[in-house]
Amino acid sequence: MMKDTTVFNLIEKELRRQQHGIELIASENFTSPQVMEAAGSVLTNKYAEGYPGKRYYGGCEVVDEIEQLAIDRLKELFGAAYANVQPHSGAQANAAVFLAILQPGDAILGFDLAHGGHLSHGSPVNFSGKVYRPHFYGVEEDTGLIDMDKVEAKALEVKPKLIICGASAYSRDWDYARFRAIADKVGALLLADIAHPAGLIATGLLNNPMPHCHIVTSTTHKTLRGPRGGIIMMGENFDNPWGRTTKKGNPIKMSAILNSGVFPGMQGGPLEHIIAAKAVAFGEALQPGFKTYTEQVVKNAQAMARVFVEKGYKLISGGTDNHLMLIDLRSKGVTGKVAEQKLGAADITVNKNMVPFDTQSPFVTSGIRVGTAAVTTRGLKETDCEKVVGWIDTVITNPENDSLIAEIRQEVNTFMAQFSLYEVADATIG
Ligand code: PLP
Repeated sequence: MMKDTTVFNLIEKELRRQQHGIELIASENFTSPQVMEAAGSVLTNKYAEGYPGKRYYGGCEVVDEIEQLAIDRLKELFGAAYANVQPHSGAQANAAVFLAILQPGDAILGFDLAHGGHLSHGSPVNFSGKVYRPHFYGVEEDTGLIDMDKVEAKALEVKPKLIICGASAYSRDWDYARFRAIADKVGALLLADIAHPAGLIATGLLNNPMPHCHIVTSTTHKTLRGPRGGIIMMGENFDNPWGRTTKKGNPIKMSAILNSGVFPGMQGGPLEHIIAAKAVAFGEALQPGFKTYTEQVVKNAQAMARVFVEKGYKLISGGTDNHLMLIDLRSKGVTGKVAEQKLGAADITVNKNMVPFDTQSPFVTSGIRVGTAAVTTRGLKETDCEKVVGWIDTVITNPENDSLIAEIRQEVNTFMAQFSLYEVADATIG
């Protein structure tokens, strides 16, 4: 068969873009060659509706072993009692949980999208805001932090069936124990969506929600450095709180309720090639080197945050505990949209982001979000990251100077050439 050069030339072009640039999108990372090998394997050919040992298709002996391995490694990584590795994405993991535990019209309480939350936590443009009755907590304007007393007051007011903690652009750790106390007070279930900090939680650098939250969801492709995908976990496999029983009268475990939320509730056949890639990534995350990696991610983020502050940038909450920071550019007279475009012209990739109490539309925004998961995988250390902030600052303070931006792009490309990425077939990363 003739090679489809049209598509493969574009993939090659994307590889060059990833190699030449500085990747600061907080939700991205560079997964290892063996994760990609598993994702591109013959497992893509296999249908396997159901779960290991209970499938609706024949020929599942091998994929059963693979999926069980992924489940076991994930449980070990987070100290979970239950894991489902089938969700195709983080949003679908959340959708499956909502479908499993809520009724249409139930009240939910999540972190405001405009303050750094995720759209699958109740945004009116998402199913979660259309099917359920969403309410939100946010950060304080002066501190950029969540005021837990206000979360409690809101929960007492709206009596949600589900409280969601977790965010896409919050640079501080979460008080899961306090969230649980609030959930218990109002009779809500508590969901932590750890899509962003999952890798940092797995290695013990941030609080682990597992002992406190009823359910935990995540993506696998951000700080966890796996393939694109979603997961669902529980620290304890408890009996369902609604008194539902089996035909024999035994209480139905939450594991069964969540599993049926994913399949047949939300999805059909699982992507066993991606599940194999997840198993590889979880295996990598269980190695000591992954802890060293995540420690460097945090050191790099803190180095960048310090230099941004020194250069007069306003960071929401003043700094970071994790891999990301949210920068309010209003004092620099540049919108998030312009900053994203101009930095893109210098081969520095960030995303424009709403800042809390933003006065611009979501298409323009007043801020950018910067994360260090991907550059740390490339091998950048603190001094490299400080240099990167220098380039960002030059672009942001000279947005109209296209020749200066072109010069920076040259410097960026030369600089990144020393950090190899997928250069040889058996390259190892991290
Ligand atoms: N949850 C959070 C907190 C996220 O930040 C994201 C993605 O950025 C998601 C869920 C959704 O993940 P996906 O894009 O895989 O659907």
